[in-house]
Amino acid sequence: MRTSEIASRFQHYFEKQDHLVLPSASLISPNPTTLFTIAGMVPFIPYLLGEQTPPNRRVTSNQKCVRTLDIDEVGKTTRHGTFFQMLGNFSFGDYFKAEAIHYAWDLLTMPQDKGGLGFDPETLWVTTYTDDDEARSLWVNEGMDSEHMEILGMEDNFWTTGGPGPGGPCSEIYVDRGPKYGKEGGPSVDDNRYIEIWDLVFENYAVDNVKSKTDMHIVGELDNKNIDTGAGLERIAYLLQGKENIYETDEIYPVIEAAERLSGHRYGEDEQSDVRFRVVADHVRSALMIMSDGVRPSNVGRGYVLRRLLRRTVRSMKMLGVNEPVLPTLFPISKEAMEASYPELNDTFHDVSEAAYGEEDAFRRTLENGTTILDAAVKKAKQSNAGEVSGKDAFTLHDTYGFPIELTLEIAGEQGVNVNEKGFRELMDEQKSRARADALKKRHNVDLSVYDDFKKTLTNPIEFVGYKEHSSRST
Ligand code: ATP
Repeated sequence: MRTSEIASRFQHYFEKQDHLVLPSASLISPNPTTLFTIAGMVPFIPYLLGEQTPPNRRVTSNQKCVRTLDIDEVGKTTRHGTFFQMLGNFSFGDYFKAEAIHYAWDLLTMPQDKGGLGFDPETLWVTTYTDDDEARSLWVNEGMDSEHMEILGMEDNFWTTGGPGPGGPCSEIYVDRGPKYGKEGGPSVDDNRYIEIWDLVFENYAVDNVKSKTDMHIVGELDNKNIDTGAGLERIAYLLQGKENIYETDEIYPVIEAAERLSGHRYGEDEQSDVRFRVVADHVRSALMIMSDGVRPSNVGRGYVLRRLLRRTVRSMKMLGVNEPVLPTLFPISKEAMEASYPELNDTFHDVSEAAYGEEDAFRRTLENGTTILDAAVKKAKQSNAGEVSGKDAFTLHDTYGFPIELTLEIAGEQGVNVNEKGFRELMDEQKSRARADALKKRHNVDLSVYDDFKKTLTNPIEFVGYKEHSSRST
C-alpha cells in the first residue's frame, strides 16, 4: 500500500466517524518557542487549551513535521526521519478514552479489503500509564492480548505541554516485527524489534507547576477532556510495505536509487554506505519540504537547520565518491516522489531548486578551500600528544575558510579524531569581545567628532533669538 493511500485510509476512516479533515499546517511552527512544527497537535494547541473554538469538536489531519532532535538517529535506526508525516485524530471536549482506543484498534486491525490497515492483532503491543487500569481493560476488551501490554511511568507515558494546562496519561501502540529483529519481551526490551507507530494521549487533568516530566502538580480533572493522537505515517508504511525501514518506502526510496546511479555503489552492499544513502534520501526530502514552506538557507534559526541538511547531503554523497553537484539530480526525484501527496510542490519548485543548487555550489567552494587545511590539522592531531585538532586550527578554519565547527567536528570525528571545542569556543568569545570593543570605540569616535563640531560652534557665541522669532511669527 502506497504511503499516500495509507494517509487517505486513515483520514477517510475518521471522516466516517464524523471527524472534520483539516489540511496540514505549515512546517514553520506557529509556536515561537520551536522552529518547526514537531507534532500533529501543534496547530491545535489553542483548541486543546480552550483558548479558541475549533471548527469541529472532532478533527483529523496529516501534519508535516520536522524534528531536528532526531537528526543523529537518521539512517541508523529504522524509524527516524528529520521530516515525517504525523496522522492524528483529535477530540476537543467530545469523545474520550474508550472511543480513542476503539478507533485505533479498529482501523489498525480491520482487513485491507474492508478499508482498514490490516495489521495482524497478534503483532500489536501497547504501553499504558501506571495507574491507567481503565485503558488496560479497554484494550483487552477490544481484543489486545493481555500479555502484550507494558506499564510505564510518568517519564514515558504522561504528557503535558511543558507548562500549566492540560495533561494526562498516554498509551503507545507498537508493532512486533518478530524474532529476526531482536529480543522478545516488549518495547522496553528492544526498540528495534518493537516499533512505536501511534501514541494516544488522554488529556483529562489540569496540571500546574510543571518542573520536569515527572515533577508537577495535578490540579484536578478537566471539564473538557481532550484526545490528541499521533501516528507515524512512514513507520506504518514501512511495516505494511514489508520494508526494513522508513527510508525504503515509496516516498523516500527513489532518492536512494538515484544516489546509487550517481555513485556507482549499491544500496545494501555495506552498512556504512547504507547509512549515507539513507541520510541523503532523508535530508533531501526534508530540505525540499522545508524550502517549499518558504525557508531559505542562512546562518540562523530555520535557515541554519536547512543549511546543515543540504550540507550533510552533499558531504554524504562525497563520502560515497561523488564530487560533482548532486542536488540537480536528487531534488527533482524527491519532488516527483512527494507530489502525489503534495501537488503544491510544483508551484514553488523552480525557486526552491535554484536556491538549493546555489547553496550546493557555495558549499562546494567552502569545502574545497577548507578540506586541505582540515586534513593537515587532522594529520597533525594524530601525531601530537593531545591527539586532537586544536581550538586554534578549528578557529582558523571557521574564521578564514568559512568552515563551520559542526563540519570540522563531523569530518574529524569520521577519522577518529577529537576537536578541542572548548578552545574553539574561547577563541570565538575572544573574537566577539574584540568586535564588541571595536564597535564601542567606533561609537565613541562618532560621538566625539560630533562633540568636536559642536565645540567649534561655541567659539562663535550664539545669539538667543527664540522669543523674538516666536513673537514676531505669532503677530
Ligand atoms: P520514538 O520514541 O520512537 O522516537 P516518539 O515517542 O518521539 O517516538 P511521539 O512524539 O509520540 O514519538 O510521536 C508520535 C508518533 O510519530 C510516533 O508514534 C511515531 O510513529 C511518529 N514519529 C515520531 N518521531 C518520528 C520521526 N523522527 N520519524 C518518523 N516518525 C516519527
